[in-house]
Amino acid sequence: MSAEEAKQVVQEKAAQAKEAPKQAKPTAEKQANCLACNKPIIKLRRYYRDGKFYCNKRCWRKHITKSKEEKK
Ligand SMILES: [Zn+2]
Repeated sequence: MSAEEAKQVVQEKAAQAKEAPKQAKPTAEKQANCLACNKPIIKLRRYYRDGKFYCNKRCWRKHITKSKEEKK
């Protein structure tokens, strides 16, 4: 391997190292959908309960009932 070839290999490795952290970075997921009906939550009309978002009180009740049934 000539000096010129070795230099090229080093540059390629550096380029790969630069790209790697982008892929490794985890994307934080925000809750965007209602837990009851899975519809996207509209900021102004959302219903907040116990750290989670729902469309409205009805969806929250629905989710509570559903989760209670699953625990049985
Ligand atoms: Zn809903």
